[in-house]
Amino acid sequence: MIYHCPKKSCDSSTKLKTVIKDGVYLRKCDSRKIQRFKCKICGKRFSRSTHTLEYRQKKRRINYMLYKLICSGNSMRRCSRILGVNYKTVARKVDYLAEKSRRRQEKLLTELQKSKVERMQFDDLITLEHTKMKPLSVSLAVDKDRRIILGAEVSRIPAFGHLAKKSVKKYGYRENHHVRGLNRLFFKIQKTISKDALIESDEHKTYSALVNQYFHTSEYKRYKGGRGCVAGQGELKRQVYDPLFTLNHTCAMMRDSINRLIRKTWCTTKKVSRLQNHIDIFISFYNHDYLNIDLTPI
Ligand SMILES: [Zn+2]
Repeated sequence: MIYHCPKKSCDSSTKLKTVIKDGVYLRKCDSRKIQRFKCKICGKRFSRSTHTLEYRQKKRRINYMLYKLICSGNSMRRCSRILGVNYKTVARKVDYLAEKSRRRQEKLLTELQKSKVERMQFDDLITLEHTKMKPLSVSLAVDKDRRIILGAEVSRIPAFGHLAKKSVKKYGYRENHHVRGLNRLFFKIQKTISKDALIESDEHKTYSALVNQYFHTSEYKRYKGGRGCVAGQGELKRQVYDPLFTLNHTCAMMRDSINRLIRKTWCTTKKVSRLQNHIDIFISFYNHDYLNIDLTPI
């Protein structure tokens, strides 16, 4: 491992032998010895943990446990009770875990550019922000063959059905950001999809224009949605053969594992960014810890 001087104007590093070891210190929160360094040019002192995401964290011991708990149907408040830490600590750690998971997912997507996705499925999952009159849409894309979640983007949508009028009266006009969310999702995963891939979705009206824009060389198939059965909370379908099974099964797992997505629950999303963070953490958990995917060629 090469360590660089933290000063921007200084380009010394351990490789050039202008950064030298400068003793160790015992980090109390996880009982580890941490190597310190000193720059011989500018005299700046730093340590092995200076450039990490965990820099200045005080409760590193709970990070991994929290990562598993938050992806196993526990709310943030319940996690803080189980781990015996303050709710605010959990809230900050969720931000950190989300950032870490996003970096991990980015790495996976660059690896996927080499072994491209041949069959992709995508759809939307409806949830809410505080009340049913403020619905949210989660656009989700999966690899049909390997089951990898490629990405998920949360976007605000206006209330629909019998709540539409009531919602406008109570909370005012709500903009529809669904197309923006889909754009963000497709832009991120565009390079991982093979040129002659098969893309599958249901018959939502906004899909075909965007698919043509991003994946015009691919084959695009649309299927009619079926009725949901109770066990999958609407995602698993009653019909005998479900062409979008991989996607619907992933959605059902997501609803089961992320507490705030469960239908008819006490636990709801209060902030859109928090839901996005929670989903990002789940994607990392699902791809790496649950599926345990290995993309290295045999
Ligand atoms: Zn320096």
